[in-house]
Amino acid sequence: MEQVEQDPDFVTLSRQFKATAMELISVLEQKQKTGGRIKVLLETLPLHKLADIFVASFEMSLEEQLSMLDSVDPKVRLSKATELVDRHLQSIRVAEKITQKVEGQLSKSQKEFLLRQQMRAIKEELGDNDDDEDDLAALERKMQSAGMPSNIWKHAQRELRRLKKMPPQQPGYNSSRVYLELLADLPWQKASEEQELDLKAAKDRLDCDHYGLSKVKQRIIEYLAVRKLKPDARGPVLCFVGPPGVGKTSLASSIAAALGRKFVRISLGGVKDEADIRGHRRTYIGSMPGRLIDGLKRVAVCNPVMLLDEIDKTGSDVRGDPASALLEVLDPEQNKSFNDHYLNVPYDLSKVIFVATANRVQPIPPPLLDRMEVIELPGYTAEEKLRIAMQHLIPRVLDQHGLNSEYLQIPEAMVKLVIQRYTREAGVRNLERNLAALARAAAVRVAEQEQAVSVSKDVHKLASPLLDNRLAEGAEMEMEVLPMGVNNNEISTAFKISSRLVVDEAMLEKILGPPRFDDQEAADRVATPGVSVGLVWTNFGGEVQFVEATAMIGNGELHLTGQLGDVIKESAKIALTWVCV
Ligand code: ADP
Repeated sequence: MEQVEQDPDFVTLSRQFKATAMELISVLEQKQKTGGRIKVLLETLPLHKLADIFVASFEMSLEEQLSMLDSVDPKVRLSKATELVDRHLQSIRVAEKITQKVEGQLSKSQKEFLLRQQMRAIKEELGDNDDDEDDLAALERKMQSAGMPSNIWKHAQRELRRLKKMPPQQPGYNSSRVYLELLADLPWQKASEEQELDLKAAKDRLDCDHYGLSKVKQRIIEYLAVRKLKPDARGPVLCFVGPPGVGKTSLASSIAAALGRKFVRISLGGVKDEADIRGHRRTYIGSMPGRLIDGLKRVAVCNPVMLLDEIDKTGSDVRGDPASALLEVLDPEQNKSFNDHYLNVPYDLSKVIFVATANRVQPIPPPLLDRMEVIELPGYTAEEKLRIAMQHLIPRVLDQHGLNSEYLQIPEAMVKLVIQRYTREAGVRNLERNLAALARAAAVRVAEQEQAVSVSKDVHKLASPLLDNRLAEGAEMEMEVLPMGVNNNEISTAFKISSRLVVDEAMLEKILGPPRFDDQEAADRVATPGVSVGLVWTNFGGEVQFVEATAMIGNGELHLTGQLGDVIKESAKIALTWVCV
């Protein structure tokens, strides 16, 4: 030892060991107050002995212990001891860092909690009501007045108690609150008052809203009559089936008006997920109630007329079968306790009057169809469309655009042209859109005149560049009817003097563009040899289809072009054999 103590390497190593050991002791000192004694040892004992004492007190593997014992050379021994002390020091530091981090987080949330408590106390002192607790009290009041059945009220109270115990920053707080709000908002008992049903008035209303459709109206009146005699009658659900734009939705809303009930429409088009009808369980993030419960919340009464629109467009896939959920909804025995997964308590749907619409009967699953009474609306003839346009669509479109017949006149002959040249549909929706395009153009003219009048009273010189521009563009008709919000009376007083716009053929072409469908087409094409006419049927009504054939020099093969179905291919072959014979 004496020799080695002179060795400069040993001296450096000792210094290094001492420094590391001191560091370790000061770290330990912060934790326990025993550090002072070890410090004294460090000063008094020879370093190589101290290294042995230190190492003996550490936890280490057997190999390390053996290798320590094995090192007889004091330099090697000291360097190994330094390494071990350093490792111990590092591990303590890492552990400390982690604890600090955790403690930091904890104390942050504790701090937040404390601050919130203080804020609450300050608000209380100030008499400020905008407080979570007050919110909860308001929610409780709302729940009390919602008229929930007793078992549901108990369930809601349990949930509310849980909510009250939660700090607002807890993850489940918000979802629990939204859920209780839904429970409070749902119309458990609130119903629109049913008036004494006046069948004559109901009939008048149906006649006033809809042209023709006498059989359908008759069936609706029968339905209403049964309801009048037996209000809780479990009659079949009416299902209007027909192409788009034949008045299915508006008939359903007329039923609601006749019964004096609120009307809510639920679109089922494209619903493939059962959860859309029944809701998601609340355990899922972002869970929501199904469309039915959502519709009832919107309409806020428990006895609305609910239109299940496009019931034929629901499909089933891996996410379940919405049709089976609808079965429960439409079954009077089962819908008394409809179970929405989100709501998780039964809801009584028996007071709701369901009406459904569909484009076709075939895609509706038979058990569902079995619960409904199908009423077909096949579409209108050109003559019927003309009457609907003259009696219903034109007055409504004019009104929607802030006009009346003093400013715009659409003669019958022009409506006929619109029907023939610009629409080819079973219903009247496109016809209504085209009429709206005419009304918009007229509204531009009226609005321009209003501007000109306010500048000068010289109404005779009025020009309408905006209208001309619009006419020149031959603008395409647009998809939506947007009411212009122009006040009828104001306009009429300002423009009594101005001339009224009468739609003629030229104007029609300028506003609606060149005719889309041509009567002549069929005549021209059929006159060509090799062309014959077929009729096809689609969801949107009937279509005329031309089948063309051309004979060419060749080796007698038949070529079919286009995407043809098997039936058509077969027909083409039959036609060929017939020609060849
Ligand atoms: P659907 O639900 O069948 O697709 P809508 O009920 O939305 O059609 O009807 C489209 C428009 O056509 C509505 O503005 C409606 O008032 C009108 N309409 C349809 N049929 C008639 C009719 N027979 N008499 C009056 N208006 C009708």
